Amino acid sequence: MGAQQAVERFAELYGAGPEGVWAAPGRVNLIGEHTDYNDGFVMPFALPHRATAAVSRRDDGVLRLHSADVEGDAVELRLDALAPGSDAAWTAYPAGVVWALREAGHPITGADVHLSSTVPTGAGLSSSAALEVVIALALNDLYDLGLKRWQLARLCQRAENVYVGAPTGIMDQTASACCEAGHALFLDTRDLSQQQIPFDLGAEGLRLLVVDTQVKHAHSGGEYGKRRAGCEKGAALLGVDALRDIPYAELDAALERLGDEEEVRRLVRHVVTEDQRVERVVGLLRAGETRAIGPVLTEGHASLRDDFRISCPELDLVVDTALAAGALGARMTGGGFGGSAIVLADATEVDTLAKTVEEAFARAGFTAPRVFEAVPSAGARRVV
Ligand code: ADP
Ligand code: MG
Repeated sequence: MGAQQAVERFAELYGAGPEGVWAAPGRVNLIGEHTDYNDGFVMPFALPHRATAAVSRRDDGVLRLHSADVEGDAVELRLDALAPGSDAAWTAYPAGVVWALREAGHPITGADVHLSSTVPTGAGLSSSAALEVVIALALNDLYDLGLKRWQLARLCQRAENVYVGAPTGIMDQTASACCEAGHALFLDTRDLSQQQIPFDLGAEGLRLLVVDTQVKHAHSGGEYGKRRAGCEKGAALLGVDALRDIPYAELDAALERLGDEEEVRRLVRHVVTEDQRVERVVGLLRAGETRAIGPVLTEGHASLRDDFRISCPELDLVVDTALAAGALGARMTGGGFGGSAIVLADATEVDTLAKTVEEAFARAGFTAPRVFEAVPSAGARRVV
């Protein structure tokens, strides 16, 4: 939905135009998977797909929420009744942000909100973070809170972790809040320091596809918890605060020390090599060698499939088919067990590649994937 449409729809719903309209994107993680809760590195970039929010302030302690993408009238909530775990519906994401802001002492007295989004939901592209960040930025501007982007990201993460109850890292919200067009965001999840790394696909005649497998794994929450606990066990056995503290050069020695803890060894190997892959990709992009990141992405997929064991037949089929058809690199992206894969390829090859992947899915009897191009886009911003 465009900004003008959002203004009109807001006026229909609430009787007068909004004070402003804001947008916040979904994201794709280029490299750095399951490193964020190990204090490591991630490297997302923002999609052109985004959540849009038309918002006005209220002064009577009421929050009204409406989404163009959900059937029904606006939901009315009282600010003093907002409580973690009280809401199992989509409204928990925006309401959670209001709760987190108020918990942190910011004087939010109410709002009318109309939301819409072009970010596919549940595809590992962070439609939830887009929703949170767009609300946080709108309220930061309207209430003149003066919070920095990284602080907004933190509050949104708190909303998702505590209010919604989803144990996610800091990457998604930081990406939506802080990314810049034409760049990937190199984020150190330990100290939240960040660098914008030029990621100009066009300059080298490349394009990047996102293939949403449409697979949503019912057990991903529990499996995520298991991986996370295994990583913490690895860090404890190795006597470090987080797996981030194992230098790549000392990986073999660390694995040896883990002895017959085979499961933990695999998790440790993924995390330590993945942090190193992020650093390699940063180095290559800084050197203007975008093509050369392809094999590093593919290595990342093998590590997630064989060591971390969070891929699935659909994701593997995207990667294997794309590589066999000439892609420069491909990997699953996001938490795993479904969601999306990314494919890096020569611009001239992309259409054929997309078709080849779609045909392979049809032959395998899988649900048709959604394929679209990912252009590194702007982070959250005010649009009206
Ligand atoms: P992801 O962030 O990978 O897309 P999540 O499960 O974290 O998946 O978040 C998806 C949820 O976010 C949806 O189930 C819904 O509750 C909420 N959501 C996302 N976009 C919208 C929208 N446009 N309107 C209402 N709710 C939305
Ligand atoms: Mg999400």
